[in-house]
Amino acid sequence: MTDIQPFLIGGAWAHGEGTPFDSLNPATGDINGTIAGASAADVDRAVRTAKAAQADPAWRDMLPHRRAAILRRIADRIESDAESLARRQMRENGKRLAECREQAAGAAAAYRYFAGLCEVMPSEVAPSRGPHLSMVVYEPYGVVAAITPWNSPLTLEAQKVAAALAAGNAVVLKPSEFTPTPALRVAELALEAGLPPGILNVVTGLGGETGAALVAHPDVRLISFTGGTATGKAIAREAAGRMAAVALELGGKSPHIVCADADLDKALDGVLHGMFTSSGQSCIAGSRLFVERAIFDGFVARLVARTRALKVGAPDAPDTDVAPLSSFIHRDKVASMVEMARADGAQVLAGGTRPDDAGLAKGAYFLPTILGGLDNTARICQLEVFGPVLCVLPFDDEPDLVAQANGTAFGLAAGIWTGSMPKAWRLARALEAGTVWINTYKELSVSVPFGGVKESGSGREKGFWGLRTYQEPKTVMWGLA
Ligand code: NDP
Repeated sequence: MTDIQPFLIGGAWAHGEGTPFDSLNPATGDINGTIAGASAADVDRAVRTAKAAQADPAWRDMLPHRRAAILRRIADRIESDAESLARRQMRENGKRLAECREQAAGAAAAYRYFAGLCEVMPSEVAPSRGPHLSMVVYEPYGVVAAITPWNSPLTLEAQKVAAALAAGNAVVLKPSEFTPTPALRVAELALEAGLPPGILNVVTGLGGETGAALVAHPDVRLISFTGGTATGKAIAREAAGRMAAVALELGGKSPHIVCADADLDKALDGVLHGMFTSSGQSCIAGSRLFVERAIFDGFVARLVARTRALKVGAPDAPDTDVAPLSSFIHRDKVASMVEMARADGAQVLAGGTRPDDAGLAKGAYFLPTILGGLDNTARICQLEVFGPVLCVLPFDDEPDLVAQANGTAFGLAAGIWTGSMPKAWRLARALEAGTVWINTYKELSVSVPFGGVKESGSGREKGFWGLRTYQEPKTVMWGLA
């Protein structure tokens, strides 16, 4: 029992009664460790502990500037522990160390940002329509369930937890089974920073066991979920049964657009960055590339040459461009989707297989891949791969482009490269997406709202909206007659 990593409820470590599981390093196939699984009974205890801690005046009545001070101290501790947190994430999801370091810094920044908002979040006095004072105050939900995926746990968990705590909630967080321990370490740091025990609980375990029990718990008032669209829909259906609120950050198949009048050198860099960072395992990856027909052949030829030159290698090697995929199961799924595309008639212009480098044989590697020869209705252009697979598609004019770009169930992000400001503005307004980048791609900031439209989700995280996601407005009318 002692070498199983326990989880955290009410400030105390627990081994629980659920199914333990192994965490694997996808770069080597080595076992990082065995992690305790939380059963439905453990989840029940976590939620009840969170509910009691949230209702305790020590937290419920804590003045916002005092909550902010705790959030800032959590940020300080994350910064002090950043290298170790980055390496911990890298061992679990195989992401390049440089990106993991940026994400550890991003996690600290999220705590600082929401500490700032916590101190300044206003209530409102609304225009009166009678002899009364009309006020709107914003209250926490109570217990928030946060459920997260494996691709960027450090930042995705921070942007949920920091906002939920700033808003006055208590949180029960279930990280992905593939990246279970960064959340445990951050929760430990939060306790050291003075967060009352029970306000942040972390239950590790499998989605169908621990995650499902959390979603079904009657005392969970808001479920903040980031993950795949199919899981998000199942969670929304379950939550609807008891009218629990949901905030859903789901999948994407984002159009990345290069017009003939763009700075093509910069566009080329942007397309590579937008697609192959995080080995393509990014909800906002620009995975459908639309290039204006007049420049299509020349631009794609340059893109293919640059893609073939990308260095596939270990996540901590400084010259690595593309690290392994996050798990062996996921690598096999990506490979099978490329086979599906081949069967549908795709031309494999780059990659399409595992690397044949013997030094990489033990890891979950897959070559950066470019597919051509299909139209936007092909299965590979419609389904989220969540790996290093880019589909290239020509377009003729703006109406054709907008119809193709919006011709998807998703609506998370989009990118436009053009030298024309009016064209950029027209396209930015016409594209169905939560975020549109113009002459850049995959720039993220904690100070602007992030989320999707259509099947990419509902609700927003980050920015001022990201705080309100974790609060409910309450109207208070005070008679003056
Ligand atoms: P999943 O939907 O498979 O899992 C996400 C989380 O949900 C995991 O913690 C998982 O646990 C848990 N889970 C699985 N089944 C259930 C269930 N029935 N009830 C409750 N929880 C459950 O997604 P992935 O982890 O595979 O992540 C990839 C997906 O995440 C992609 O679709 C990607 O686009 C999306 N994503 C979206 C982002 C956004 O901001 N829009 C950002 C990043 C990723 P377990 O790991 O144990 O299965």
